Amino acid sequence: MLKDFTTIREKIIEVLKTTSEPLAAEDIIRILGVDISVRDVYEHLIHVAKSVRSRSQGREVLLMEPPVCKKCGYVFKDLDKPKKPSKCPRCKSEWISPPRFIISRE
Ligand SMILES: [Zn+2]
Repeated sequence: MLKDFTTIREKIIEVLKTTSEPLAAEDIIRILGVDISVRDVYEHLIHVAKSVRSRSQGREVLLMEPPVCKKCGYVFKDLDKPKKPSKCPRCKSEWISPPRFIISRE
């Protein structure tokens, strides 16, 4: 059976609009209690970013707090889409904090 992605996306939007602080993909999964992977959440967030912006005519945006290397503090600023890097390019550490997300209203 196909999963109902539309509904999950709406729920993700709701969670990210009402949260007081940015949430990681793991937090979103836990809050929604859904059986999807972190990778699925990132995939949904790409569409969430587009639909939130167009629906609100640009007044609401999905913000991503970039992943950070917990060892040397390197910030992964140049990500074009949500993901958790596996390795730090500077110190090669794999101890990376995941990106976190929130929907903000101008
Ligand atoms: Zn590092």
